[in-house]
Amino acid sequence: MSKKQSNRKRAASLCSRATGMTYSRCLESAMNGHITPLRPVPDANSPEQRRFEARIAHTLAYTLRDRQLDSAVLGVQGVRLQGEQLTLRLHPIMARRIVADLLPVFDVAYGGLRGVPGLRIRYRAGEWSLVDVRSSARVHLEGFDLRPGPKLPAVERGLTPVWRDVPDRLSRIERDEIVSWETGSECRRTTDARDLLFSRILRRPLLVNRAGTSHGWVNTYSHHDHDIVFEWCCGAEAEELADALRVSGIENRIETIDFRASFDCEPHAERIDMGDASIVLRCLNASWCRGDDWAGPAAIARSNLRRYQ
Ligand SMILES: [Zn+2]
Repeated sequence: MSKKQSNRKRAASLCSRATGMTYSRCLESAMNGHITPLRPVPDANSPEQRRFEARIAHTLAYTLRDRQLDSAVLGVQGVRLQGEQLTLRLHPIMARRIVADLLPVFDVAYGGLRGVPGLRIRYRAGEWSLVDVRSSARVHLEGFDLRPGPKLPAVERGLTPVWRDVPDRLSRIERDEIVSWETGSECRRTTDARDLLFSRILRRPLLVNRAGTSHGWVNTYSHHDHDIVFEWCCGAEAEELADALRVSGIENRIETIDFRASFDCEPHAERIDMGDASIVLRCLNASWCRGDDWAGPAAIARSNLRRYQ
């Protein structure tokens, strides 16, 4: 086998393991020069697309918390990538709830906006998509019955459905909310590097989903706009998962992005850093899910399932 052939096969294998696309489809991408062993998963090209995907990943990490089912972390079971176009294959039980969590709603009790500012839902030619009203960024969705479509947020007392009231442009409240995300807040953290990192996480669901391989239980959250934490009960070691993400090219640099961090941070084997942003991986090595007592994970799985009914 020539070196060229061998490289293509390696790129295809890495791509398939990260995205869930078939090996033959990934090999075709490699033959067309779209992926290489160093860059086996295509990136979103435009800053707007990366930002849109990053906000989706960050929002879902915050809203789903410990409710992920069947190790579908962030509700994603696989992706399809055609050029930079991204299609998320959502967990069928989680899909409708995920859309509801992403659509922007002003919550009086919370005192602010929930969901992704500027995100709207569209149905065209038999396909559901999440679109950004400010740009051409979009993400296609698979995973729910097309006829009922996704579950849209109910109009409740104290909740204003911004996505429905202002369908084609940004509302004032959304415009106010995006400032902090796009400027890096008062600390002036690097935002482009963060958007690339979080977008890449969304494009590698099968690697992240290894976290829940043992018992399907994964918790996600964030401390601020610049991190996403994945923690799970047992099984895969955090370092092992971080290594798999690194091999998939998640840390690759792009010339147009400034990766210099504003704050010093010691590198850590269980963390992927990019500029000031981090993906934190944490295996809890818990005891409640081990041994003969299966009541723990089973009870949690039952309880989680009820939250989607
Ligand atoms: Zn476990």
